[in-house]
Amino acid sequence: MRVYLNGEYVGREQAVVPVDDRGFLFGDGVYEVVRVVNGQLFEADRHWRRLERSLDGLQIRQPAGLDGAALDAIAQRLLEENGLGDAHALVYVQITRGAAVRTHHFPPEGTRPTVFVSAGPFSPPDAVRTRGASVITCADIRWARCDLKTVNLLPNTLAKQRAVAAGADEAVFVRDGVVTEGASSNLFGVFGGELRTYPATNYILPGITRDVVLELATELGIPVRLAPIFVDELPRADELFLTNTTSDVMPIVRVDGQPAGGGRPGPVTGRLSAAFIERMPAGAMRAATV
Ligand code: PMP
Repeated sequence: MRVYLNGEYVGREQAVVPVDDRGFLFGDGVYEVVRVVNGQLFEADRHWRRLERSLDGLQIRQPAGLDGAALDAIAQRLLEENGLGDAHALVYVQITRGAAVRTHHFPPEGTRPTVFVSAGPFSPPDAVRTRGASVITCADIRWARCDLKTVNLLPNTLAKQRAVAAGADEAVFVRDGVVTEGASSNLFGVFGGELRTYPATNYILPGITRDVVLELATELGIPVRLAPIFVDELPRADELFLTNTTSDVMPIVRVDGQPAGGGRPGPVTGRLSAAFIERMPAGAMRAATV
């Protein structure tokens, strides 16, 4: 596979980052994952805007010339060079503060950020979507800037590992008695016909899929309330689902080993899932189960 590193297109094994890179030393960097459907980037502009926001949040200067159009072009070239020109794929972008002598404070002015982009094949998890996902609840031990998409993902990886060890698909975080979001997803509930999800504060990542689903709910006339779901409310939600770039709309049917959200994918989730798939480029996913 060919990847992009600091302005060059090289084989993946030639893409080497110095041990002084602050991404390696401090997790001092940000990332994005963009979905590619039939060779076309899905909602790329929103991903590039969120990347810029994450960079601003960490005070990493956006590398010169690396605007959304440049990222689109890099992604397209990688898709073509890797034979993914009309495939389902994921594009990964990571930018760190760069390599410099190790100090906690920022490195000297002029230190060049490290920019890495890769593209790889992807299969949507249609089988899990059909049966519905299992989740576990887990304490939200993350910092108070969960709205920035940084590569500091230890609470997320530890939570996901706990889910996998329990035979579940995702872990959902609980902070002060309310469910904030999943380890790599946003969480929605349906209560009496009303869709509810945590508001876009510093305690969640403002998911691109979440934003699209909120727009689709409005278009479909489904009432929406941006408010926390208490963990005690999970067992009596009519429906529950997750959203993210790799799962789209993913019904939840078990929480902590117990049936939840009606125990099977529900009707509101199904409508949103179908509308989401319809929204994707060329309706390529239309055949997928919804
Ligand atoms: N929350 C967290 C913590 C995530 O890692 C992700 C996946 N990036 C999401 C939510 C969903 O975001 P998106 O829909 O943009 O993939």
